[in-house]
Amino acid sequence: MKTLQTDALLAAVNAWVEIESPTYDIAGVNRVGALAERLLRDLGGTIERISGAPDFGDIVIGRIPGETAEPGILLLGHIDTVHPVGTLAGPLPMRVEGDRAYGPGIYDMKGGNAIAFAALAHLNANGRRPRLPVTVMMVPDEEVGSPFSRAHIEREARRHAIALVVEPSGEGGKLTVARHGIARYYLKTTGVPAHAGAYHSKGRSAIREMARQVLAIEAMTDYARNVTLNVGTISGGTHENMVPLHAEACVYCLVPLPEHEREVRERLMALVAVDPDMTLEVRQGLYRPSFVKSPAIQRLYDHAAALAQEIGYPVAGERIAGGGSDGNFTGALGVPTLDGLGVLGDGPHTHQEHLLISCLVPRTQLLARLFETLPA
Ligand SMILES: [Zn+2]
Repeated sequence: MKTLQTDALLAAVNAWVEIESPTYDIAGVNRVGALAERLLRDLGGTIERISGAPDFGDIVIGRIPGETAEPGILLLGHIDTVHPVGTLAGPLPMRVEGDRAYGPGIYDMKGGNAIAFAALAHLNANGRRPRLPVTVMMVPDEEVGSPFSRAHIEREARRHAIALVVEPSGEGGKLTVARHGIARYYLKTTGVPAHAGAYHSKGRSAIREMARQVLAIEAMTDYARNVTLNVGTISGGTHENMVPLHAEACVYCLVPLPEHEREVRERLMALVAVDPDMTLEVRQGLYRPSFVKSPAIQRLYDHAAALAQEIGYPVAGERIAGGGSDGNFTGALGVPTLDGLGVLGDGPHTHQEHLLISCLVPRTQLLARLFETLPA
């Protein structure tokens, strides 16, 4: 019987991390996709690639046979990161400090992908097979809301009995059993331009109008219900000496339940310019529906928690995650979804991003046991 080794697992993780793959660097994302494809071929998977050109890298799918027939497990991961090329050579070099391994995307979520592949390879090396067929799906655009992958994820989800998502786990190894919905809105104000010196009084500032809208929108935040509205980006004006004609902003909203999404949408779409000489346009962007814990998800969680206990590396409980993932799409379709099965660590999307090396063996074991035992 071949056993899992920490060094080999860390090397496997690093093979993913050393290829930089911010979402819009299509070549970089596809290099990670090629790595995934090679590993899936080694596992005896049937490969499918769906081109994301011209906007994104490709989706890579590997279908691994199980002991029984379909419907099987959909294992979801994303191969893009938020870190621009140069992060590795600059602010976030790959390195080990004590139990921490650092690198861009190592926690979110290349570490998770790597241990999921390692779990399948581990079964293979020991002459074992997943009980259900496993479809491994690596998507290139999760960090920007999966605009290309969403329909493909939903199509696959409908054909599967269970979705497992190897996004980072919560604090202490918590698994994710629900996620809030995420809605994006784009605002544009149009004013009246004027020379800011001689004709200032004739101008109507689009930036001033946007500033008033921003305050109104952020005031809609309701922490008691976990509904938050964050104006995350803003831009406007063309010259310091001109009353600005345009301003634009993007609002990122956390909406735990579908009714919150409706409420926020109605309020934002009803906004009008405070100054009658100006216009305000509000456009809805990408929406990730919330996924809510069902009895089937509770059973999945209980099963995983019991396996983790057996392994001697308990999961520290369940959580509802604030941020979205592709698990939102599968969960919202009613496919029992267990998320946060990836690595432990901290600092996603920052220059402190790291995983905990001590989790690599037990979390790989947990995934291998899930593949061997599901459906519970
Ligand atoms: Zn992620």
